[in-house]
Amino acid sequence: MSDNSIQALRAGKIMTMAPDRPLLTDGVLLAADGIIHEIAAYREIKKEYLGPIQDLGPGIMAPGLINAHTHLELSHLKGRTVTGLGFEDWVQSLIRLPLKGIDARTLARVRADLSAGGTACVGDISGHSPSLMHDFLSASGLFFHLFLEQIGFREKALHPLPGKQNRLRSSPSGHALYSTHHRTLQLIKGWCREQGHPFAVHLAEHPGEVELLTTGQGRLAGILKKGLLPESFTPPGLTPVTFADRLGLLDPGTLAVHVVYASPEEIELLARRGAAVCLCPRSNALIGVGRAPAEKLLAAGIDVCLGTDSLCSNTDLDLFAEAAFFARDLHLDLGLEQLLALITRNPARILNMDKEIGTLERGKRALFSLVPEELSSEQ
Ligand SMILES: [Zn+2]
Repeated sequence: MSDNSIQALRAGKIMTMAPDRPLLTDGVLLAADGIIHEIAAYREIKKEYLGPIQDLGPGIMAPGLINAHTHLELSHLKGRTVTGLGFEDWVQSLIRLPLKGIDARTLARVRADLSAGGTACVGDISGHSPSLMHDFLSASGLFFHLFLEQIGFREKALHPLPGKQNRLRSSPSGHALYSTHHRTLQLIKGWCREQGHPFAVHLAEHPGEVELLTTGQGRLAGILKKGLLPESFTPPGLTPVTFADRLGLLDPGTLAVHVVYASPEEIELLARRGAAVCLCPRSNALIGVGRAPAEKLLAAGIDVCLGTDSLCSNTDLDLFAEAAFFARDLHLDLGLEQLLALITRNPARILNMDKEIGTLERGKRALFSLVPEELSSEQ
């Protein structure tokens, strides 16, 4: 390797997130051509490596962050939805907006914000501008998995398999149990399982979803029956997590997003099936849908990660801010390593990218973030 391709970085601490050695004090990361060649304490490396080292200061270096749930295609609608009044008011305000209007300038800003916040990868949902978003993400230099969201109860939604998109980095997904036909969800889940792709679905996010699925009634039913939900819709009479399981949607390849409403038995069920959960605490708080039983989900041993959700239900796409909010609101002390796992190691595994990102180890990508003081001092 030529010297020019070598990157040497030193930090007061490095949270490698590698299970065997998660924390290095006074650590150095050596990379060649963007791949980690060595990562160890400075005193171990200084005898072998005599080249220049960039000192990042006394702070904490962590792996590049992974935002497991975004809708970047809605970024142009930031600040234009009704928030704080619950899901129905929020979604009504959202569907009146130009959902397909994402523009290059907004995407460039989003790209810059993600980099500035240390984000290296997104699990991004696209239902309105999938080709454009695929092209944007492919050119962005970010790691990504693009979930091509299928919404609707019409027959055409029963053929959701992707066309020109890169099959390694994109796959079909469902929106929710009340907005994507259950046969479509089963078809997509079956395809993802066969292909080894993650499957994402919004699950148990808000009280209206629970009411609609259990009784067929409520304000959400009224809103959806104006276009999306057929008059003939028969509610399964089950709560969301139980219905998802009945449909065969829960297994280790499934990323259930939100899970605000789950009974203790349903949390046990999610754990038993091995399904992963993506929590979006600031989105839930901003829309006003409730708070996920995060402590119980973690205690059950479920693979949990964090996402910001879209800029229609969050103030920014900053994962450190999401983690800080989550930690402040949590009735237990996770410790910095466990907290960072929610935005690094865990989502890397869930999105099938843990061979390349999620921890700072030899052979993986040299993508890193710097933990803000606010977060490190809270721990
Ligand atoms: Zn979402």
